[in-house]
Amino acid sequence: MLIPGASFIVTGGGSGLGAATARMLVEAGGRVTIADLNAGAGEAIAREFGSEVRFVKADVSDGEEGAALVAAAVEAFGGLRGLVNCAGVAPAEKVIGRDGPHRLESFARTLGINLVGTFNMIRLAAAAIRDMEPDAEGERGVIVNTASVAAFDGQIGQAAYAASKGGVAAMTLPIARELARHGIRVVSIAPGIFETPMMADMPAEVQEALGKSVPFPPRLGRPAEFAGLVRHIFENSMLNGEVIRLDGALRMGA
Ligand code: NAD
Repeated sequence: MLIPGASFIVTGGGSGLGAATARMLVEAGGRVTIADLNAGAGEAIAREFGSEVRFVKADVSDGEEGAALVAAAVEAFGGLRGLVNCAGVAPAEKVIGRDGPHRLESFARTLGINLVGTFNMIRLAAAAIRDMEPDAEGERGVIVNTASVAAFDGQIGQAAYAASKGGVAAMTLPIARELARHGIRVVSIAPGIFETPMMADMPAEVQEALGKSVPFPPRLGRPAEFAGLVRHIFENSMLNGEVIRLDGALRMGA
């Protein structure tokens, strides 16, 4: 599906894994609509990557903003061949805390962005991809989601994050089965620990120790390695309905 000139949406494209994915898609000859809540970051990335990249400020968890984003991508670049869902938040919060009601709001917000937001963008993008001409095999487009190893191996403080990413992992197969009849594949990536601004709050020594705990290679993942797997997913039509760990065999345990 990496046809020259094809149109893609990358959510969370203003930073980290999404920005690396947008770069890869442009280098592969694609045209990319970057969506992010952070307009400054998204606009800067769009400027850096050139005329084949546009930025649209959108909250992925909002139905109307998501619909406007898809409409903008279709109008600017003549359709839609792919969606890469990278927008996400990763708050660390324990279950028991003094500000009890705040916990509920924070839990719901994390699910709202990571899980409901991913579903929102899938449903809207799938409707646009379905209108595309199929290729010789009947494929119209591809959707890639970002789960996390936290879906399977969540740490203390990650209940909301793990639940949201577990939801992304769990919905991958049923959505892939449903969209198969429209020639749309759906695959999720479960990254381990990657060097992105999301990790920047962590002290350097913690990041270094985490990197060393990865069996091989003993370091944090690089955003370009995530983008490389997205590229492979776009190019390999047999990959569908799967959640792929990209973690150097990292298993954190309790
Ligand atoms: P990042 O913080 O660098 O980028 C995330 C981007 O999403 C930001 O630009 C942010 O503004 C945007 N965003 C947040 N909420 C949004 C919303 N409601 N609508 C639109 N945009 C929104 O993070 P990253 O490390 O690049 O993470 C990308 C994805 O990968 C996330 O879903 C994250 O959970 C997942 N992930 C990251 C790691 C890691 O180690 N970095 C590991 C596993 C999974």
